[in-house]
Parts: sequence; structure tokens; C-alpha cells
Amino acid sequence: MAAEQPITPFDWQRLLIGEDPFGFYFEIIFRSFVMYVILLILLRTLSKRALTQLSILEFGIVIALGSAAGDPTFYKDIPLFQGILVLVTVISVQMLYTWLVNKNQTFENAMEGLPVELVDNGCILKGSLDKARISQSEFFELLRIKGIQQLGQLRKAYMEQNGQLSLFLLDEPQPGLAIVPPWELEEPETFKSGAQLKELQTLACRGCGAVSSVAQGMIPGCHCGEKAFHHINMDPLGIGQKVQDQESGQ
Ligand SMILES: [Zn+2]
Repeated sequence: MAAEQPITPFDWQRLLIGEDPFGFYFEIIFRSFVMYVILLILLRTLSKRALTQLSILEFGIVIALGSAAGDPTFYKDIPLFQGILVLVTVISVQMLYTWLVNKNQTFENAMEGLPVELVDNGCILKGSLDKARISQSEFFELLRIKGIQQLGQLRKAYMEQNGQLSLFLLDEPQPGLAIVPPWELEEPETFKSGAQLKELQTLACRGCGAVSSVAQGMIPGCHCGEKAFHHINMDPLGIGQKVQDQESGQ
């Protein structure tokens, strides 16, 4: 930058409008439009969970408007009018977005995503955690926060579009994969596939929670690809009644 001239305080032309050619304001609208559309698309690729507290729209608005609203307050080169133009453009894109989402189901699904079914009758559905972009330990953490002790309590679990978990419990819970105490604190006893069992055991897959009775002999792998198993448990914290291993399998 060339040496700058000293500024004249309260130069109304510079403060309110700036000294740029009129076409520059169209450029600002174009820039804001492009930036905000890119921002919305990028936000869609973020983990849903990271956005649990704010909806994607609110988050986008906060980022896009934050700088536009803030910069003209202290950058002398940025007149208020240019900042306002950014604000108006972002809000307009936002209104257009909301209108499109309400108008067009395909657009809504593409932008907001679909709810993901994570659990069906005590089993984590294959690939569902990847689809919902959360790890198994994050998922178990969310379940514990909702008071779930073991997967056999669950009829269905969905990751909703807003990143919240919705749970539907079985009227009569089955013994399943225990998630308390958290495995990070207390690693449960593990059986590996290929190991020999001396007696019949009912085990839950460490990966998906599928319950299967294994007779004497070698433990097979789970259909989900997991090779480690834990004891099933009805009441891992010992709050309620003890339940014997069931022989019925899944
Ligand atoms: Zn499995």
C-alpha cells in the first residue's frame, strides 16, 4: 500500500458511502451472495453434532453477519453503506433459502439432510453411524446422557436433522450391550471371535450390539465385521433386578 494520507475525522462521504464507483456496490452484493452460498454449503458438510446448539441457519447467519456487521465499525476504509449492503444481501439469501426449503422437498432434503435411523431393536444399523457422522463412543455418550444403560433398552434411535438424538424404548427391555460404566473408565470383559467357549454364552457384539447365543466351541465373527464381544447385560449398574442370560438368542 502506498503511504496513506491522514484521514479527516467525520468525513461523511467516506464514513457513510465511501468513494468507490457505483458499480462497486453491485460487486459487494455479488461477493456477499457468493460467500454466503459457499458458507451454507460448507456448513452442511460439518458434523451435525457440532451444530446441535445452533441450527445450521443460525450458525450461518452468525458467521456471515458477524464480520459484515463488525468490520465497518472499526475499519476506516469500510463505509457503513458497504457493510449494510452485505447484511441485506445475506438476509436476502437467507429468505430465499427458507422459501426454497419450504417450497421444494428435494431441495430441503439435499440441504437439511434426512434423519438417520441408528438403532433397530437394540442393534446399531450397519453404516448408520458413518451416515450420521458420529463415532460409536460419541453415540454411546449421547445415549448415556439420555439415561440409557444398555442397547437392549432401545426399540429405535434416530439422529434427527438438527443433530439431536430421539429415542424410543422397548416396553420390555432385553439384555444387550452395556454402555455403562463408560468403556473409557472400565473396559468390559472381552471375548474374541475364534476363541473357544467351554459353555453356552449369550454375547453382544462390541460393534453393533447384536446379541447371539454361542454354544460350546469357537466364537464366530459378527455380521457387522466386529470380532470382539461382551457379556450381555440387563442392568449394568445393578439398579434393578438381575437377569439371567437368555438362551433364545436374537
Ligand atoms: Zn456386530
